[in-house]
Formats: sequence, structure tokens, C-alpha cells
Amino acid sequence: MRTRLVVLLALGMLGVLALPAAARAWANGPDGGNGFGTHDWILAQANRLAAAKRAGWVDLAVALPHTDDPDTVFHDFYYHVYERWNGHHYGDAPKKVSSWYAKALTDRRAKRWRAASVDVGILAHYVGDLCQPMHTDQTALEDTVHSSYEDVVDNLTTSASSLQSWAHFDGYQPPGNVTGFAVTLASASHKDYSALVRDYAAHGWDDATVRAITRRSLDRAANAMADLLIALRKGAPGGGSTGGGGGSGGEALAQVAASVSNAHPAQYASVTAKATCTDAKGKPVSGVKVTFTWRYKTTTPEETLTTGSSGVASCTRSIGAATTGYYVSIGVSATLKGVTKTASTGFTPR
Ligand SMILES: [Zn+2]
Repeated sequence: MRTRLVVLLALGMLGVLALPAAARAWANGPDGGNGFGTHDWILAQANRLAAAKRAGWVDLAVALPHTDDPDTVFHDFYYHVYERWNGHHYGDAPKKVSSWYAKALTDRRAKRWRAASVDVGILAHYVGDLCQPMHTDQTALEDTVHSSYEDVVDNLTTSASSLQSWAHFDGYQPPGNVTGFAVTLASASHKDYSALVRDYAAHGWDDATVRAITRRSLDRAANAMADLLIALRKGAPGGGSTGGGGGSGGEALAQVAASVSNAHPAQYASVTAKATCTDAKGKPVSGVKVTFTWRYKTTTPEETLTTGSSGVASCTRSIGAATTGYYVSIGVSATLKGVTKTASTGFTPR
């Protein structure tokens, strides 16, 4: 209680302006997301609530470092929101909720417990974002308070034991079709959008309505995740598709990110270099021509591929007898409609 009071006082004195700008999501705690933040809190509470149905199966030590991956690794921000009100049609978080649920189910069925914990860590991010009312609509006023609000909540959810009383198990409601389940969450969340934005902009955290909405939102997120964990434990199919991205081809290329499947491959191994192309909103862009240039010590092969609807182009090659200990950089050059973006990755044969 005392610590919380101090935190609240400190926040009051800092005022909202002094808080750093954050990603468009519940914040992720310190250390680039791998500290404990709101997304971690939601999953930790969900696992606690699911234990009421003997379904607290998540290995939190494995899962929690991944709750921030959508913000810090995937950057797929289009899928962190769902705006279908007031004439908007933007974002598709339910699609990711559905596909990560399906992946977790597949991994559990194959007894890949570690992978399943990683999957639900990621799943919890998209579920949590949908339960942040500000992820269900957009207004100019919201833009001025979004990050500050999330940072305030982040400072209240700094460990699994923070605010435990805010998450009460409301019983198991089978999610059924997981996409529909996620849309229902967004609808419930959206009911609080206007009041949250208006009151937070006017009074900050020092407002009973803001606090009540926050408590309700976090409770909703924890219970929704608990329902999904229980459904996974029961092996409920979820009716989801495992489909990927959904680039529609009309977007402009804004960014390419490059990665490699193995940073220290043995000689004669196959290595896959991957380029992920996104537009300004983080949505995958299809139809991008991507040239991969593999700079070995003595040769520089190139290969050009085209991204599909997931915005990804993958180039797999055997590295042959590449010189051990010599860093092979892989240049990635992505071009669409005259716009070129570059990135690089690489590996060191061992
Ligand atoms: Zn997010």
C-alpha cells in the first residue's frame, strides 16, 4: 500500500508530460520490453486464474520474455488494434489472436511445451492490446494521451503480485470461435473508449472513471487469457485459421527488416535469410522484389525473390565450405514502385 501511494504521488508530481513516449500498446516494462510490464502482468494473472480450472500450465519463465515480441520483434502494429466504429476500418488484432491460439494448440498437441508457452506469451500481447480501449478507435485527443496512459498503467503493473485484486476469475466461458471471441473483447473494450480518453485527458490518473475503466480492462484481459489457456488445456479447436499476414498489394513499402536462421552455422549447412517488408503502419507488403547479396570472402552470389501476402521473402542457400570465422554479411535490398529500402544481416560459419 505504502509503495503504491509513493508511486502514485511520484506520478502526480511528474505529470503526464514527463513520461516517455512508448509504443502503441500497453507498455512493456523496462529493458526494451523484457522487464516486467503490463503485458507480463496480464499473462501472469491469467495463469493464476486458469489454475482454478487446473489449467495454469504456462511456464512463465519461458513465456514472459515473449509478451513484448509483437512490439519489439514483429513490429506488426496493424495487428495490435481493431477499429470498426465511427466509420473506421483499420487493424486486425483478432486475426493474430486466432493464429497464435492455433499455433499454441498445435504445439501442445505435439507436446512441445516450451514452444506452447512462447506462443501464449505472444498471444497474450494481442489479447491485452484489444483490452486497451484506446486500441479500438482513434481521435486526435487520444493521440495526445495514449502513450502517457499506458506508461502510467505500466508503473502500476510491475510484478505478478501487483494489483492482484484487480483480476478476479469470472468462471470459464469457452471461447468457441477464437476470432469471434477476440472481436467480442474489442467490442466490450470500445464501450469505454470515449470516457477513458476524455477523462484521462482532463484529469490524468487522478480520476475515478479512469481507474474504474483501467481495472475493468485489465480484469477483462486476464479473464480472456485465462479462458484461452483453459481452452488450450482442453484442446478446444478454436475454429481459427492459421493464415498469415494479409497484404493486399496496394500499400507503399516503408521498411524492410532482415534476419538469418542461424548466426553460427556449420560448414555445408543451409542458411535462410529472411526479409520482412512492411508499410508505414506495420502491415505486410506483398509483391516487393527483394535482392539478397551474400558477401562471402571470395564470392558474392545474389538472388532476387518476391514477397507474398505475409510480406516475407526467404532466401535459403547451402553455405558450402564457407571460411570459418569469417563474417558473411547479407545485404537485403527491397524495391516496390520505385521505392527501395535496405537492411542487412549475416552469419559467421563455425
Ligand atoms: Zn502491441
